[in-house]
Amino acid sequence: MDLQLKDAVVLITGGAKGIGAAITRACAEEGAIPVIIDRDAAAGKQMEEELSRRKIQCKWIGVDLTNSESCRSAVEETMSSFGRIHSLVNNAGVNDRIGLENTPEDYLSSLRRNLLHYFDMAHCCLPHLKKSRGSILNIASKTAITGQGGTSGYASSKGAILALTREWAVDLLPYGVRSNAIVPAEVMTPLYQQWLNTFPNPEEKLKAITAKIPLGKRMTRPEEIASVAVFLLSEKAAHITGQHLFVDGGYVHLDRALT
Ligand code: NAP
Repeated sequence: MDLQLKDAVVLITGGAKGIGAAITRACAEEGAIPVIIDRDAAAGKQMEEELSRRKIQCKWIGVDLTNSESCRSAVEETMSSFGRIHSLVNNAGVNDRIGLENTPEDYLSSLRRNLLHYFDMAHCCLPHLKKSRGSILNIASKTAITGQGGTSGYASSKGAILALTREWAVDLLPYGVRSNAIVPAEVMTPLYQQWLNTFPNPEEKLKAITAKIPLGKRMTRPEEIASVAVFLLSEKAAHITGQHLFVDGGYVHLDRALT
């Protein structure tokens, strides 16, 4: 299937590692031009080199998105390099475990890490998206629906991201710009592995988690999120907007008795 993304400039926040990296590669495979916005310089350069070796046009922009000014400059840099933006994938985030016992200042910092840059990026991309009639894709998390405990900042950011996905879908109807979200649950990424490593026996912990994933008793692969992502960005999804797609092996919605 030709997704008709050839030469489409797609901004992917956190596009150098994990889920974002898989989306970057999937966009590249479809002939799009990924712009990787990621503060991890080593991973960003590595991704840029990998794609350049394959003669794929791309760009890495190394900024920390917790600052509105960095979001603005990343969009400006993209425009001065390519002169257009087809789509925005808001993906960067971290389950930073800022909970009720933390201070209000800690909570605000968590919103900065997980939520505010989703708005900043959409705001700065807006005039360009209106021109291209492209789309926004937000990566949320199951915690928006299920809660997790001890992570108010992250869970409420992800909940707001689901609400904004629908709010922006309405706002952008007149411009033919679509807005959708993917909701992952358990995906093996560098961040996830880092979290697993905080347990005394990471392998045991992983076994206990995968035992509860209905479909296949396994983690979702980043590539499985990425295939849905490129589909949603593409013209093949031209009549899908305001949707929350759960790519989670049935984790959130299927009967608990199954496990
Ligand atoms: P990851 O492995 O840490 O990759 C994310 C990348 O984004 C990293 O390179 C990270 O750099 C970068 N990044 C994070 N915050 C940034 C910022 N403020 N400015 C610039 N770059 C930033 O994470 P992942 O597991 O792929 O998660 C990606 C998204 O999926 C997140 O929004 C997460 O909440 C969501 N999600 C993941 C899972 C899962 O099971 N993995 C489940 C549900 C939802 P650093 O390494 O320097 O932080």
